[in-house]
Amino acid sequence: MSDVGGAPSDGAGSDGARSDVHASGETDGFTGPVSVESSLNLPGVPDAFQRLWTPHRMVYIQSGAQPSDEDCPFCRAPEMSDEDALIVHRGTHAYVLLNLFPYNSGHLLVCPYRHVALYDDATAEEIDEIARLTQTAMRVLRETAKTDGFNIGMNQGRIAGAGIASHLHQHVVPRWATDANFFPIIAGTKALPQLLGDVRAAVAAAWPA
Ligand SMILES: [Zn+2]
Repeated sequence: MSDVGGAPSDGAGSDGARSDVHASGETDGFTGPVSVESSLNLPGVPDAFQRLWTPHRMVYIQSGAQPSDEDCPFCRAPEMSDEDALIVHRGTHAYVLLNLFPYNSGHLLVCPYRHVALYDDATAEEIDEIARLTQTAMRVLRETAKTDGFNIGMNQGRIAGAGIASHLHQHVVPRWATDANFFPIIAGTKALPQLLGDVRAAVAAAWPA
């Protein structure tokens, strides 16, 4: 699974995406000259969403580079505005933000402020607050998004799939009975019906004071 809320880092977010993508590091022939064809000739129905294409992320994905402490998106996010960093709640030792590369709408990450990699390196206060914020995240997502279930967990270490392995973060991924469709299977694409800013505003507004 992977990471990062609003921080504009490549590193953010790709645990799962990476495995979806090209585990072999190959680029499926996209490296050569590209021919462009009018979309009018292609199947598909235009909609209201814009697509953010991020081929630059392939450099990160393929190199396995990890951000330095100075570049860490989870360290940088709290220095930004809630809107810019997609933060929904700031606690004492930990905070909650939207994953910039969500598996599902409302995919939240619970992070300690401290740049610490492993769960067993976190302090008792950090662990306690991460746990309580995770519970609150579940309640808020049930209320705002009528969630049917959740995937919750941490990837510890690069080998375990952590996109930002150097900064601990717990994933809270809402699930719905109808959220699985053929897109991720045949196209490596996830259908996300809500824009991140709208989700952030709704979750932040519903978060108990
Ligand atoms: Zn950090």
